[in-house]
Amino acid sequence: MHTDRELAGYIKSLMPSQKASVNRDKPVSIWKELDRIGGSVEDTIVVIFRTRGCSWYNFSSCSMCGYFNDIDSTVTKENLLRQVDVLSNSLNGIKVVKVFTSGSFLDPLEIPLDVRSYFLDSMNGRIDHLLVESRTEYLNEKNIGALGNYGYRIRVAIGLESSNDSVITNSINKGSSYSKYVTAATTARKLGFGVRTYLLFKPPFYSEKFAIEDMLSSIRDTDGYSDDVSVNPMNIQKNTLVEHLWKKNLYRPPRLWSLARILLDSRKPGRTVISYPTGGNHERGVHNNDYDRKLLDLIVSSSLNQDFSELEEYYNSADLSSYNEDIELEDRLPSGIDVDLLSRRSISYSQVI
Ligand code: SF4
Repeated sequence: MHTDRELAGYIKSLMPSQKASVNRDKPVSIWKELDRIGGSVEDTIVVIFRTRGCSWYNFSSCSMCGYFNDIDSTVTKENLLRQVDVLSNSLNGIKVVKVFTSGSFLDPLEIPLDVRSYFLDSMNGRIDHLLVESRTEYLNEKNIGALGNYGYRIRVAIGLESSNDSVITNSINKGSSYSKYVTAATTARKLGFGVRTYLLFKPPFYSEKFAIEDMLSSIRDTDGYSDDVSVNPMNIQKNTLVEHLWKKNLYRPPRLWSLARILLDSRKPGRTVISYPTGGNHERGVHNNDYDRKLLDLIVSSSLNQDFSELEEYYNSADLSSYNEDIELEDRLPSGIDVDLLSRRSISYSQVI
């Protein structure tokens, strides 16, 4: 296991003890959004099933992950079956479904095998594409080889986050590695599944300049293993290490200009890179110093359509001098200190270093 035990223990100490009083028969949330899993833009139903949560929570958590805020260790198989029924009744003819679980859909302890079968059967004949998420350890032939042939395509989303093992271990605390991702993705594709790779843009303890390069090299390192790559800019979630650093002004979420740059610089024929930022233009999510609705909209629309010409035009016509100064300055400061905050409060560097 690739783990910094001290970091893992600290992250664990920030996780709250179990909460109570939720309806275990209902998913955490269901909503409709657009995605392009089938190669064109389509309405998609997204569900978050309430489960006992990610197996990694037993030991620690990823440094940015706050999904443990939605779990319930008392969720039973019957609760899960009823949650599946709620989803089944919510499709309304929509042919693409994405399933999130605050963990791994393919973890048999989180989603028991008979619940998995019930769910997969209930989608048969009703949808064209299904996306589920999984940690790498569950993507082996024994666990997914018997998933069966359904009348729809299944894409598995894997949280690689970065192809740099030092980032994976010392910043994200993923308890995984690039080589485990390669093995898992290769197995999934060999068995006929599609793969979506999640990358985390701007993990803690690194500058934005480093994080941009990390995304570009990580995208290159997924070539041949993934049908598409989703660049997920940091969105600060409650009770996480990242929130802890952010509250101490030791972390600033990435800037929209940087995300646009990644999308523009990673273009290559045959490669699909997308980004649908959560919390964009808000202080906990990806944002520039000034609110920019148009830039966020262009990032999403170009990801959906895979046409980046308007985004490129907007990017090239902007004055990026102060953005460039900020990320150069941040790169010279320790641990991703929030340079916007420093300039707003006129704090001298000597006070924080
Ligand atoms: S593997 Fe996924 S669900 Fe589990 S702690 Fe990490 S980000 Fe959260």
